[in-house]
Parts: sequence; C-alpha cells; structure tokens
Amino acid sequence: MSSTINVRKDWDTYFMDIAYMVSTRSRCPRRHVGAVLVQGKKLLGTAYNGAPSGVPDCSEAGCMIAEQYELAVVDGVEQMVKKERCIRTIHAEQNLLLFTDRIDREGSTVYVTDQPCWTCANMLANSGVQEIIYHRAYPKDSDKVNWLMEQKGIAFRHMTGYVPPEQTAGITAP
Ligand SMILES: [Zn+2]
Ligand SMILES: [Zn+2]
Repeated sequence: MSSTINVRKDWDTYFMDIAYMVSTRSRCPRRHVGAVLVQGKKLLGTAYNGAPSGVPDCSEAGCMIAEQYELAVVDGVEQMVKKERCIRTIHAEQNLLLFTDRIDREGSTVYVTDQPCWTCANMLANSGVQEIIYHRAYPKDSDKVNWLMEQKGIAFRHMTGYVPPEQTAGITAP
C-alpha cells in the first residue's frame, strides 16, 4: 500500500529538518545557519550563528561587515571579486563545539544546513566528530575542506535532493 500522507521521515531528513528549524533562531539577516550534534540517533546539541550572548546582535547593531577579495569564476574566467561578510556572528558549527562536550562528540555526526567554511571545518576535524552532513553548498572553501576531511577520514556528505521545511530556508545570501 502506498500513501504520501504518513510517510515516515528517514533519519537524515529528520535531523536536517531540525538543523533548519534551529537556523531560524539566527538574527543575522545575511545568513541563517543551523547545526545539530547527533550520537547514535540521539540529539545532543543544537546551535546557530549568532553574536556572543549578552552582546548586541545583528538585528540590534547591524551586521559587522568585512570586505574580502577572493578568487571566483565569473563568465568562465577566474578573477578576484570583492565579497562582503558579516563577522559579528560566531558560526553555528563553532557554537556547537562551544556548547557540547568532547565525550559526546567522539564518533558523532553533525548535520549542518550549510557546507562548513574552512575555519569551521578545521575545528570540526579536531573535535571528535566522525561524520558531517550538509545541505547548501559553499563552494568557496570546498576543495580544501574536502581534502581535509579525506585526510582525517571523516565522512563528508552533501545531502542532495533534500527540501527544507517550509519557512525555514528563507535566508540564503551568499
Ligand atoms: Zn550579521
Ligand atoms: Zn564557518
């Protein structure tokens, strides 16, 4: 018998949905990122990108913009392009590491809405996490992050074909 009404979600979808729900807590208008720590199907931590607690966040004080030049391919040609990034927030993955215990992270899985940047990947690689599953791609650091995960033997998986819950994925600024 087939029915689309009570289809049970698989674990990947279940935990990625939670990561997206968590991301809605973010107050940075440029990017909402959520991350969750899972150990043996148990949820052991959640985090999103935000300013340190007790400090005005982006919605109160505005984003803290830093300009950076980075290599990008524009119309098939590699060139340096200027990018603006908000540096007020601690990234979701870093907050996740700040608020979880090492013992809980050993052999665990992290679900994160966005492919980790280089700094977050570097920290995750040293955190005990054994598997990282992300949804939205972040090509800027992709090559070195993939290389790092391979070196560390960490399973690094792009969840393709996944559709986030309605109204949780509104913020996707590059
Ligand atoms: Zn911001
Ligand atoms: Zn990051």
